[in-house]
Amino acid sequence: MDYSKGTIEMARLIAENCNSCQRCMKDCLFLQQYCDDPKKLFQQFLAEGLEPIVPYSCMLCGRCTVVCPLKLKLDEAFLAMRQDLIKEGLPLKQLKSVEMHQKLSTSKLFTAVNRGEAK
Ligand code: SF4
Ligand code: SF4
Repeated sequence: MDYSKGTIEMARLIAENCNSCQRCMKDCLFLQQYCDDPKKLFQQFLAEGLEPIVPYSCMLCGRCTVVCPLKLKLDEAFLAMRQDLIKEGLPLKQLKSVEMHQKLSTSKLFTAVNRGEAK
């Protein structure tokens, strides 16, 4: 998997600067489930990549950035990984249902147009 320069740069910024204080982990079940601390997680990403389920499990809520003393943007890095992964096709089988939902919900067949009250 080839990640973009921007994604790698974001990950490197976190891997190099995170001081493992774990403040961001206190309220984040995603981080608690997938890492000991973000520094190690992003180091792992740079060394060998991550399973797609990892970036796709971040809720992109931004809470980590709010509590981080360095204001590191974990959510932006996970989103960038997702954007790179999607360019290579659907990275998770669970997304198949979303793809179908998008096709159907934007189809003319199921779209109603409200033209307002006729006079
Ligand atoms: S943006 Fe992701 S990593 Fe940060 S607190 Fe929310 S779920 Fe956790
Ligand atoms: S709050 Fe910031 S510095 Fe502390 S572990 Fe999380 S990302 Fe690293």
